Amino acid sequence: MGRVEGKTAIITGAARGLGKAMSQLLAKEGARVVVADILEDAGRETAEEIRREGGRAIFLGHDVTSEDSWSEVIGKTLSEFGKLDVLVNNAGIQIIKEIADTTLEEWRRLMSVNLDGVFLGTKHAIRAMRESGGGSIVNISSVAGIIGTADDTAAYVASKGGVRLFTKAAALECSKLCHDYNIRVNSVHPGVIKTDMVAGMMAHDEEFKKKLESSHPIGFLGQPIDIAYIVLYLASDESRLATGAEFVIDGGWTAS
Ligand code: NAD
Repeated sequence: MGRVEGKTAIITGAARGLGKAMSQLLAKEGARVVVADILEDAGRETAEEIRREGGRAIFLGHDVTSEDSWSEVIGKTLSEFGKLDVLVNNAGIQIIKEIADTTLEEWRRLMSVNLDGVFLGTKHAIRAMRESGGGSIVNISSVAGIIGTADDTAAYVASKGGVRLFTKAAALECSKLCHDYNIRVNSVHPGVIKTDMVAGMMAHDEEFKKKLESSHPIGFLGQPIDIAYIVLYLASDESRLATGAEFVIDGGWTAS
């Protein structure tokens, strides 16, 4: 038996990077996975790779900033797999710009993906999960949702801090103490993980790359699988006592 055998999971931003690794691991552990992303070709390829490995996965084109898109993805998931057990709100974007140079349009664009997307996903997942008796929602925040960073990422930090506290409020709202939906909600806070998002940042600035590497006391930068394992735990029933909590996987970055 896999650790998430028989569960249905939607993972946003799953075409590549962390979301792809999460999709592959959850499928390997028995979940039926909905690979959701705006990147159609890469998303289809991720789902296809999972099926080639013997897992169950479908791709759905999905923009997390659109409420209609959420209704469609949850509707299609329910008609394909019958229920929703796990939602991983993973899609996110980054901008590196001084506050003084950031336009309101850029700020709002980032918030719409990183924060509106998490709100909309949580809203629609709660509606689906409370019907079928419960579930687990995992919100991918960041170390930058816990501490500020001196690298011109204030909008990103604000969005990820919002995800962190939204998660705690949602967890309490869904708990027995409040509405008793049997839905757990937790946040995950990765340090720097080598994905396209970070490769782009490092490619332009050797100093920045060295700074990122030296900010991890453990001595190396993480890989997507390092984050996928904590998501697997939170998706599974092994984490039944965990809700409203923040899971920091950062090689010791925020320990001091
Ligand atoms: P990535 O850029 O490699 O992947 C992000 C995915 O999100 C892409 O496939 C992209 O197409 C998708 N996406 C973007 N906008 C979307 C939208 N509107 N609707 C649906 N999908 C959309 O990034 P990643 O490094 O894999 O990051 C995944 C998550 O982890 C993000 O939320 C990011 O902020 C967070 N995170 C990453 C790191 C890191 O070091 N890589 C560290 C901390 C947190």
